[in-house]
Amino acid sequence: MSGRLRHYACGSTAHDTRTLFRGGTRDVREFPSGVFLYEPGDGRRFLFDTGYAPDPWPTGWRTSVYRRVLPPSLAPGDDIGAQLARDGVDPDSIGHVILSHLHPDHVGGLKSFPRARLVITSGQLETDEKARVRDAVLPGLLPAGFPGEDPIVLTPADFAPVTVAGRRLRVAEPWAGAGIRLVDLPGHARGHLGALVEDRVLLAGDAAWGTDLLDAAPRMRALPRRLQHHPAAYAATARTLSALSAQGIRIVCSHDRVVDRELLP
Ligand SMILES: [Zn+2]
Repeated sequence: MSGRLRHYACGSTAHDTRTLFRGGTRDVREFPSGVFLYEPGDGRRFLFDTGYAPDPWPTGWRTSVYRRVLPPSLAPGDDIGAQLARDGVDPDSIGHVILSHLHPDHVGGLKSFPRARLVITSGQLETDEKARVRDAVLPGLLPAGFPGEDPIVLTPADFAPVTVAGRRLRVAEPWAGAGIRLVDLPGHARGHLGALVEDRVLLAGDAAWGTDLLDAAPRMRALPRRLQHHPAAYAATARTLSALSAQGIRIVCSHDRVVDRELLP
């Protein structure tokens, strides 16, 4: 099977990488917010994440704090709903929207897909991180009635150990034979989820800020480390992804700069 996996950059933020990692060079780097459309070729359409919101979300002190820490930028027409429409993809034709985790740069385009079935994890729904700044800005971003009428909510029992390229992963398969499987990638946020497409490309969400930064996890500074839900699991996930990459699985993080937007050439 070879379907199509296409990358969309839906807004970005910028950071000096020295503030994230010890030993980094002075380098203000742009981190695009990636959205991925997978079409297995049987008429179904899966979206992985939704990027930044097309409009500034409701203001308030929380939003202003968030914007200072992670200044977002999204040009008009760069939200995922508008980009898909330009590609001739009706947002209503997206059957499933998979969310890696519930942070603003991943859920911002969700309102463009009121008919899609959401795929999330029970961990994501747990709200004990509410007090954190990043989670506190969500109420203005998620559609009313989130997570919708008939979401697929994966619990830990839905993930089974599977060996991929010599590494044990915890994998859920809601769609047998569709070419896309969901992978438990713990550490960054509670219930953080990745997607393995045709056993060739692993969409890794925020398992790292970039594929080239997987090996930098041990050098992460204290403040960004505290933003991780589970720092030890984050480091272990990064090691697993590095090993998969060495075995030929292409790892694509949500904030990678992707040059060729077709990921299954
Ligand atoms: Zn992110």
